[in-house]
Amino acid sequence: MVFHYLQDNQRQETTRDARQLDEALRVVQETAADIRAGEFAAKPGYVCRNCAYEPICPAHEEALSAT
Ligand code: SF4
Repeated sequence: MVFHYLQDNQRQETTRDARQLDEALRVVQETAADIRAGEFAAKPGYVCRNCAYEPICPAHEEALSAT
């Protein structure tokens, strides 16, 4: 497989075995099913520190209203 970085037009080639590809496919299919079902709750955590949506994120509104 190849990652192609658009910002600097670099390529990075790597490999995955069949088990890893099956696991990735399973994660994508489960996530797609959750999205179709409207089940994709926010998972607040460390990553929120750099998120541009934090001021309007429902997960943070709930945390603020609980205090
Ligand atoms: S602030 Fe909300 S949308 Fe942004 S990463 Fe955190 S939980 Fe996700």
